[in-house]
Amino acid sequence: MDAKDNIIQANNLCCNYSVDEAEIKGILVDKLLIPRVGITSIIGVSGSGKSTLLSLLSGARRPTQLQKNSRLEFIEETDGATLDLLRDNFLARGRIGFVFQEPHLIKRISARSNAETAGRFLGGANYNENINKLSSEFLLEEVIDQRADTLSGGQAQRVAVIRALSINPDVLVCDEPTSSLDEKMGLDLMSHIYKWAHENQKCVLLVTHNMAHAAEFSDYLIRTENGKLIIGEDGHPIDLRGQTPEDKLKFIKTTFYPMITTVHRKVQQAA
Ligand code: ADP
Ligand code: MG
Repeated sequence: MDAKDNIIQANNLCCNYSVDEAEIKGILVDKLLIPRVGITSIIGVSGSGKSTLLSLLSGARRPTQLQKNSRLEFIEETDGATLDLLRDNFLARGRIGFVFQEPHLIKRISARSNAETAGRFLGGANYNENINKLSSEFLLEEVIDQRADTLSGGQAQRVAVIRALSINPDVLVCDEPTSSLDEKMGLDLMSHIYKWAHENQKCVLLVTHNMAHAAEFSDYLIRTENGKLIIGEDGHPIDLRGQTPEDKLKFIKTTFYPMITTVHRKVQQAA
């Protein structure tokens, strides 16, 4: 794998809120490389550090301790140049889009005006054109000029996604984007996100509790456990590309849900 095949590189980052030395509340990253193209899913029980990892990698949250060899870098596709997000997290401005559990729309304005807020705030180029294209791709054309509070839950969350994508980010960060939706709407939203990532050769970082979604849509997988990452030894997430959803689901179940003591051995075998 070429260095430019990754978009984010993190080394020796620690975000730990625990006062007890024996325990981690947050996340520890020794070495992690996020692939430039495809969906990298992050799975793990509540409190295992998934959201902390997302905010750390996107530069939204600073590590609680820094070491000399701590690194967080965004890697440019064109020349492999690196942007040092620990020095200045503003360098990630406009390159990362965020979607959360709830759409957080402004109710009394239109869906379109909501979608425009990211581009207006960040001063993005062509965001209006992008919104037109995205509203068609995300099947929102009929409702885009309606007031936000007239939309269904699924439509509102799709507006939140196109708001994030309107700035044409390199990475879409999604923290449990389907957990407030019913099963059909959730699957629908994920299908749209998957299509966007693959058609545009982009990176999605997805936290999900939904194992069927993890199996259906993951190209790569990270498991968080008690503030630690379970990934391949070289710092790459577990590569699931080329496997069927059934095989991926079987892998996730057999690797992460039997007795905890066997986890590390199995991941090594599988990597
Ligand atoms: P997850 O998203 O996997 O449910 P989080 O990343 O939100 O987990 O949290 C991991 C752990 O870190 C939890 O024990 C949580 O209470 C703790 N934590 C996260 N952010 C903070 C913070 N800002 N202050 C104190 N503790 C925090
Ligand atoms: Mg969380």
